[in-house]
Amino acid sequence: MSKGIGLNAEFDEKGRLSVKTRFWEVIHDSKAGGCITSIKFFHGSGRNVLRRPIYSYFGSFWDISNDEAKISQVEEDGVLKVKITGKLRDVNGYTESNVDYEYLYEYKEGHVKVTHRYFFRRGIAGIGDVGVGCVEAIPELSCFAARPSHIRAHPPHATCAAVWGRITFDGRPVFEERNIPLYMAVFNPGVEGVEFLPGPDLEEWTKQLVDRRDVGRFQIVGEPGPDRVRIVVEPLSSKTNGYRSSRRFSGEYRFTFYIGLPKIPERVPRRYMHLAFGNHPWPSDEDIRKWAYAGVTVVRLHNDYHPSGDFWHDGSWPPYDERGMSELRRVIDTCHRYGIKIVPYFSLYEINPKSDAFADGYIVWRRTVDERGSLIETYPPNHYYGFGMCLKSGWKDFLKGYVKKVVETLGFDGVYYDYAHYWFCNNRLHSRGDHTNIDDLIEFLEYTRDLVGEDGVVLLHQSGWFPCVLVENYADGLIMFEDASSWREMPPLEKFPPNTLHLRFMNVAPRIPCPLYNAPDGVKASWDLCAKCVLFGAFPWQGLGPESEPVLALFEAFRAFDLSRFRFEDYTRGYVKTSDTAIKGAVYFNDERILTVLSNVEDRAVERFTWTVDLKRLGWDPSRRYHVVGSLGEPITTLDGVDLSDRGVEDSLEGHRFKVYSITEYRRDRRCVLYNTRVWTESYVDGVLTVETRGPVGQRAVLKFYSPEKPRRIVLNSKVLREGKDWTWDESSRVGTVSYEYVDTREKVVIRVF
Ligand SMILES: [Zn+2]
Repeated sequence: MSKGIGLNAEFDEKGRLSVKTRFWEVIHDSKAGGCITSIKFFHGSGRNVLRRPIYSYFGSFWDISNDEAKISQVEEDGVLKVKITGKLRDVNGYTESNVDYEYLYEYKEGHVKVTHRYFFRRGIAGIGDVGVGCVEAIPELSCFAARPSHIRAHPPHATCAAVWGRITFDGRPVFEERNIPLYMAVFNPGVEGVEFLPGPDLEEWTKQLVDRRDVGRFQIVGEPGPDRVRIVVEPLSSKTNGYRSSRRFSGEYRFTFYIGLPKIPERVPRRYMHLAFGNHPWPSDEDIRKWAYAGVTVVRLHNDYHPSGDFWHDGSWPPYDERGMSELRRVIDTCHRYGIKIVPYFSLYEINPKSDAFADGYIVWRRTVDERGSLIETYPPNHYYGFGMCLKSGWKDFLKGYVKKVVETLGFDGVYYDYAHYWFCNNRLHSRGDHTNIDDLIEFLEYTRDLVGEDGVVLLHQSGWFPCVLVENYADGLIMFEDASSWREMPPLEKFPPNTLHLRFMNVAPRIPCPLYNAPDGVKASWDLCAKCVLFGAFPWQGLGPESEPVLALFEAFRAFDLSRFRFEDYTRGYVKTSDTAIKGAVYFNDERILTVLSNVEDRAVERFTWTVDLKRLGWDPSRRYHVVGSLGEPITTLDGVDLSDRGVEDSLEGHRFKVYSITEYRRDRRCVLYNTRVWTESYVDGVLTVETRGPVGQRAVLKFYSPEKPRRIVLNSKVLREGKDWTWDESSRVGTVSYEYVDTREKVVIRVF
């Protein structure tokens, strides 16, 4: 195992090469042309998601027909390179084609960049179909996302926004293009999937074989009997329009593409309870204190426009006048005092003309999408952020220096990147032809991770218009859902798709959905959004103001738990069942604790319902007895497992509200923590219960514990606590309650119950 790059490659006795990371295994087989024959995600289904090897062909000459391809591997510059050489073979007569191929697979933890080169030793005429990197996958990958081709993208923005949907197994394409699409993915929502994206040089696909539009066939299609999902990648197809090239293929052809490999973790680390703010007004110290006490862990300064003209102009330094800079420093200091991480907004796309770099840079750096090379402005007439640049230019180098200066000078804890996606640009100063910024985006994200470190925060904004797991693999949290943010109100949960497909997608980075900016009743929409997102394990963000109240209530409901220690199953998995259709349930769990999430997804209150949680399916024993405690400390009950899993627990819930119960095993003779205001760890040795916890300075906290008998003594750090004042004992429930305060955000509080 090469530790530094997290990749390991090994040949087996049959000449197959296995490339592994913590997340997946990919196998190349020399008997199948050296092509990829298997892709498995350890924390997905664990099965090979391919139905046949990933294949390529020129007419009847195929790579996977070659049963003696040569495979070699080498590690260079943090990349594991796998090289394949062979000859295409004719599928009919199995004769030599005299077409040599050389494939290069550059593996990283979250993707492989594939370069195919074909050498025609002598010219071959009459080839009507060329396929490159075609995929046939298992039918469980029954959903898709795809971005259309750039060829007819609409100026001024030429975004090529994604379409989402479900695949039907009737042989009819659910997505189809005649020119190279910017993106194609198939996936099993919340489980796993694979994606294809073209390399940066789009003209490999549009001009290399035939310099003519509309001659290819790019499809996502479900085929019946046996059911399978195909991603068809044919830059030249006789089926599209009967076009048959009269030219002879000779010399070299080259195609570059990426296969995104989701880094699906065993437990998605949902650590980021996130808010945003600007400078109208700056948050007060009191605002920040309230955020911290509710459980906010990271905030961002998002201030890229304000009609007054007083805002952080993208690319400018210093971003504010002296008063503004001093306010910014105050906010950073106060956040840090309360243990909140803080990151600034950066646009990977826009530069404001007020930036000193604008005048020198914009001619060369600009992204262009029309024939005239027009500057692209975002987004008049209502907003004036700046002008669009392309990372495949000196813009990238400027931005690297800029991000470093901002983060290091002001002591930010990481970054928030807007426009964390790739798209098309035709500026000939960047490349000989139509291109994307994908290579440069990857380099930029790797640079950023090095800059902020493993503990630093990288928040990426990637709405459902531009899904890409390859990019998402670099995120600690994914700001998303902006494609839905123009809704005036939330649709019913069951009508949530296609947006829910991005909420679950390939189960990589924690989701941080955007608010509904245009809702007439923002507070109501915010409760509604929270009530629905909590069932997907997603935690929306909000800005300052009354709309943040529901979000803070949501954070508070989970404040006591380190969710990175739990696995999660969303409401569609049926672990939690209820007697009322308005109430849905999801579950977080590990060996010690279950968190049952209940949410009322409708407007009406439900006065009485019952809920159950499937203990057996979670690996828990229904014949035991359990503590069931509200996640905010009330109520505290003990129930038989059979009540939880079969008979049901009675409850009530207001419209668009949610609650969380913590379930732990009841052991008559053993002390344990039932509730604490903040995250804690506990140990029980020789009858002494020891609890360690941290919290933001000044926050009042409560510890509730079960004990078979009344404690003799309770000690906090080294101080003996007074019974009746600092702690109380309830003999009937055998529950002790300790009240205390966190005096220093960084300092550990240790409570011992003797
Ligand atoms: Zn460009």
